[in-house]
Amino acid sequence: MTDLNSPLVDLLGKKTADALAAQLGMHTAGELLRHYPRRYAERGKLTDLAHLELGEHVTVMAEVRSVEVRRMRQRKGTIMEVVIVSGGRTLSLTFFNRRAIPGLQTGRTGLFAGKVTAFRNKMQLTEPEMMIFGAGEDMDTVDEFAGALMPIYPATGKLPTWRIATCVRQVLDMIDDPTDPMPIELLATRGLPALGDALRRIHRPAQHQDYRRARERLVWDEAMAVQLALAQRRQSALLKPAPACPPVPGGMHDLFDAQLPFELTDGQREVGEVITRDLVVEHPMNRLVQGDVGAGKTIVALRAMLRVVDSGRQAAMLAPTEVLAGQHARTLRNFLGPLAQAGELGAAEQATKVVLLTGKMPAKVRRQALLDIVTGEAGIVVGTHALIQDKVEFNDLGLLVVDEQHRFGVEQRDALRSRDGGTTPHLLVMTATPIPRTVAMTVYGDLEISALRELPRGRSPIATTVIPVGEKPAWLDRAWDRIREEVADGHQAFVVCPRIGGDEVTAAEDIAEADLEPPPDEDGKRRQAVAVFDVAEKLTEGPLAGLRLGVLHGQLPADEKDAIMRSFSAGELDVIVSTTVIEVGVDVPNATVMVIMDADWFGLSQLHQLRGRVGRGSAPGICLLVTDSAPGTLARQRLDAVASTTDGFELARHDLELRREGDVLGAAQSGRRSGLRMLSLLRDEKVISEARDAAWQLVLGDPFLEKHPGLAAMVAEIIDDDRAEYLEKA
Ligand code: ADP
Ligand code: MG
Repeated sequence: MTDLNSPLVDLLGKKTADALAAQLGMHTAGELLRHYPRRYAERGKLTDLAHLELGEHVTVMAEVRSVEVRRMRQRKGTIMEVVIVSGGRTLSLTFFNRRAIPGLQTGRTGLFAGKVTAFRNKMQLTEPEMMIFGAGEDMDTVDEFAGALMPIYPATGKLPTWRIATCVRQVLDMIDDPTDPMPIELLATRGLPALGDALRRIHRPAQHQDYRRARERLVWDEAMAVQLALAQRRQSALLKPAPACPPVPGGMHDLFDAQLPFELTDGQREVGEVITRDLVVEHPMNRLVQGDVGAGKTIVALRAMLRVVDSGRQAAMLAPTEVLAGQHARTLRNFLGPLAQAGELGAAEQATKVVLLTGKMPAKVRRQALLDIVTGEAGIVVGTHALIQDKVEFNDLGLLVVDEQHRFGVEQRDALRSRDGGTTPHLLVMTATPIPRTVAMTVYGDLEISALRELPRGRSPIATTVIPVGEKPAWLDRAWDRIREEVADGHQAFVVCPRIGGDEVTAAEDIAEADLEPPPDEDGKRRQAVAVFDVAEKLTEGPLAGLRLGVLHGQLPADEKDAIMRSFSAGELDVIVSTTVIEVGVDVPNATVMVIMDADWFGLSQLHQLRGRVGRGSAPGICLLVTDSAPGTLARQRLDAVASTTDGFELARHDLELRREGDVLGAAQSGRRSGLRMLSLLRDEKVISEARDAAWQLVLGDPFLEKHPGLAAMVAEIIDDDRAEYLEKA
């Protein structure tokens, strides 16, 4: 029996199989058939030669206009120059020491494949591989494609697309139709072709409709494989035992609600109700709460934590930076007031304790914190990675809250949850990075998702303006004036730079988003981004002389960072010059202006997060994006996008469009071995969403996919080695 697992060597012979293995790393029929065409060339419609790029490996279809052989001037030997033409444009091909090439004659049409090089400012292909129609050894291939769509494969110089096409045809002719892994009902409701049919159509379409239908099926398979893997994970997480935390009337949660200084937004209330229902159950909650910057996620988390405290258990909140952890602890204590003063004078009767644990605490404070945690004295524990890394023992951890999930990996959050054998704590993940739905469904597919769509009332919108210092240098002075005006009105400001400066090693929390390719200069080089130290110095001596400036970055000792943030919160500093260390969560309602230097060094989501630090009070916020990028460049377009909308979700979508998708999912998306070749997070939103539902239905009835071995195999393929990474990617 010949099937997708058959070794290519049995089907195509050793020589060809070796070439496929060496050039494309494929060994089985299945691997070859999953090497899908990049596009299809139509006989008669020639290739557009206008869009060739230097260094690119291209396959073009064109007509031979002239063939000329001459002696080389400098060296011995001859050079053959062939000019091919397509769509009115020409391209030269060069061959060395060839007097004639069979079939290569004026008027003939063929495929030419090679790397685009430049010679005397003209693009050309040197020694390309070629296949001339109606001539030579490749007659077979040519004839069978006559008048049809010809697949153009991702190819290499040694293995041009037509040789791949020939191999694919031979394998398709020999192979039995594969058993279809997809339940027939699913295919029927969606009107999708069978797998064997889809594979034939994708490689050998007779008309455009063929490969489109094939693609629908193949995309569906990929979406299903991912969603089944995620559904299985959700399912197995759901089956673990967890501490049930039913509401306790008159408990901390209710007391807190009664003393809330404001009204909850509808979103906060609704998500709160959903969480309450999740917590009643004896299986772990796995919930992601998405809410734009300033949507009020902290309250949502606090109310969830109080439910757990009411049940006599502990809640932990994991924050990505020391600054943020410190601030969360302060905020929670402030919100709770006497409810957080257990053991102190004037505490409420049911009061608990909010304890902070970070990596850089003095030994004595730390010992006390650890003690409070292990005895259960601390109902609420706020901490950084230190909570995970060190041997922190909880008395009875009932809930883990992870703030700003994008800074943590799945393993990290799971590390805390799988501590002691018994029960699994509930999990609440909060993120302000607006994730497009498709990404959420894929990357966070094992979590239930809730969203806080509206901001609390009375919030003023942030006005964002791009300051192009190249064209309008005076605008920068105006920016500093603006800061002075705001400060004169009793407000505060941030100045953010991409780098610390000096000899300081930049800490992880200081780094502008790593996905960002620094935009190059004219000469292709990139100057260094401006640094906190330099900017702070210039501002103190010049434009902001006389104001109270503080400097904040990740290399400062924790207590210093904390002290600076505290005096800023207390209004003892007017301006903070900092790195992205202030990116996440920092909440100083009195801050109204943010100037971001070299803004093009930051990612879109990062800029959005950053500007969310201002305008959190009742006064309107202003964000000024300083850049020397030229108008029309990609860098500038990105900044314009940030300036044009305050909707984080719209920006996230924009971000996805501007970035290569592979970057979103990590290497697996682009990798040859990854099961995902066709699925696009941008185009295939509907398919992903339907696959998610279908996968969940299947897994509910058949958790281990025992009734669907074909699907189980598809999932296994996705989960394997580097694909696991794809799912873990946070
Ligand atoms: P984020 O979602 O970015 O974490 P926070 O939880 O820090 O937002 O909340 C931002 C600010 O809004 C805080 O000062 C918080 O006290 C305030 N806030 C939260 N909920 C409300 C509400 N319902 N009404 C008014 N202000 C609120
Ligand atoms: Mg927050």
